[in-house]
Amino acid sequence: MAVLKDLQPGKVFHFFEEMSNIPRTSGNEKMISDWLVRFAKDRNLEVHQDEALNVIIKKPGTSGYEKSSAVIIQGHMDMVGEKATESNHNFLNDPLKLRVIDDYVYATDTTLGGDDGIAVAYGLALLDSSDIPHPPIELLVTTNEETGMDGAANLDASSLTGKTLINIDAEEEGIFLVSCAGGITSTVSFQPDYEKYQGEAFKISITGLKGGHSGIEIIKQRANSVKLLGRLLYKLSEECDLRLVSLSGGSKHNAISREAEAHIAILSEDYTKLNETVNIMADAFRNEYSVEDPDIKIQVASSKADKIMTKKSTENIISYMVTVPDGVQTMSKEIEGLVVSSLNLGVLEELNGKVQFTHAIRSSVKSLKFEIMVRIRAIADLCSGTVQMFSDYPEWQYESDSKVRKAAVETYSKLYGKEPEIQAIHAGLECGLLKEKLPEADMISFGPNLYNVHTPSEHMSISSVARTWDFLVALLKNLK
Ligand SMILES: [Zn+2]
Repeated sequence: MAVLKDLQPGKVFHFFEEMSNIPRTSGNEKMISDWLVRFAKDRNLEVHQDEALNVIIKKPGTSGYEKSSAVIIQGHMDMVGEKATESNHNFLNDPLKLRVIDDYVYATDTTLGGDDGIAVAYGLALLDSSDIPHPPIELLVTTNEETGMDGAANLDASSLTGKTLINIDAEEEGIFLVSCAGGITSTVSFQPDYEKYQGEAFKISITGLKGGHSGIEIIKQRANSVKLLGRLLYKLSEECDLRLVSLSGGSKHNAISREAEAHIAILSEDYTKLNETVNIMADAFRNEYSVEDPDIKIQVASSKADKIMTKKSTENIISYMVTVPDGVQTMSKEIEGLVVSSLNLGVLEELNGKVQFTHAIRSSVKSLKFEIMVRIRAIADLCSGTVQMFSDYPEWQYESDSKVRKAAVETYSKLYGKEPEIQAIHAGLECGLLKEKLPEADMISFGPNLYNVHTPSEHMSISSVARTWDFLVALLKNLK
């Protein structure tokens, strides 16, 4: 029994419900991908399925739009599979149990897959329609967005001709995304030398920081525990003969590190200096971060040391911690409040006898990503560290002259009597990868209101789905 059959727009909710019956978590997309191919074949539409299981379905323009250039409508077919602890839902076999409460569609005990099933449902409703005027449509449905964007990265784009791309994977109605960051991960490692040293060992720990997502929250300019630790150690090395024993901090490259710890050795007569320095630096940190990080705490405890680093190794590592840049590097002059480039020292750890720092670098301008990479290399060289760069992903740079953005703003303003909000995000989107495959594509991203995505309480606003559909249909009409 169809649960959504009385909802409007009928076709959109019909196809959304059909998709909800097909298991489609990331990495498990064969069934839904084949189902999309069958959808196209049943309607005699041109269809391409590539090795990554991405599907492209084409439909000619309607009367008066036959010669218009094609519009690519894009979303991802995979969804995050999260369920309530007590649920025995099997994401590999079971259909989702949809239900409607007031203005919202939920799936009982599981994620709903509104992210990004609603984009596919819109696309299918357009392909199935006979009464909506539109330019030629190329519906692009990608795989594996949620676990690494492998579908977009491995897309065979050879059959796509459209120069306009509408991505429907944003979660707030009335907000148009127009740019995203690219990024790369960098590690810098040090191979310390050890020696005998007649010192006393202590553990210094920094805690109480808020942290946050290294893309979205880097703009808040919160403290980074590893950077604070570096400053404290540098100051201490000016006061006394300091040796490092071991270091650790942070847990994820893409999270601002909240805690850091250093085991050190100093001569026993320098103990008072250690306490004095810790107090001075703790006051300075609390003063500097009184707004964003008021609870910074530094503690000293006695420790034990089996092996102690040489003075040179100690200096190299501390110099690196102090000088390597961190946080926001460039702000946009076109979009207020947008971070263009940044980096985050997310992890400090010991791996195979080496001390290793991991930085997440982000930028919506490619050359500024390279600029940060160059600085890391130069500083690492000066401090005798070894650099590695990996997990490179491309950006979607802001286009100052975008036809589709202009059309979208005009259409939206006319339809709703208010201006939409233009936003860019300092994190990766499929649009970055698609921009690399389709360099000429003029792109925009929007979507209806979704709440608590990636959790079992994910829900989607029915009225917002309807408004966003009306907007999409009106926009296509205007893209002649
Ligand atoms: Zn998504």
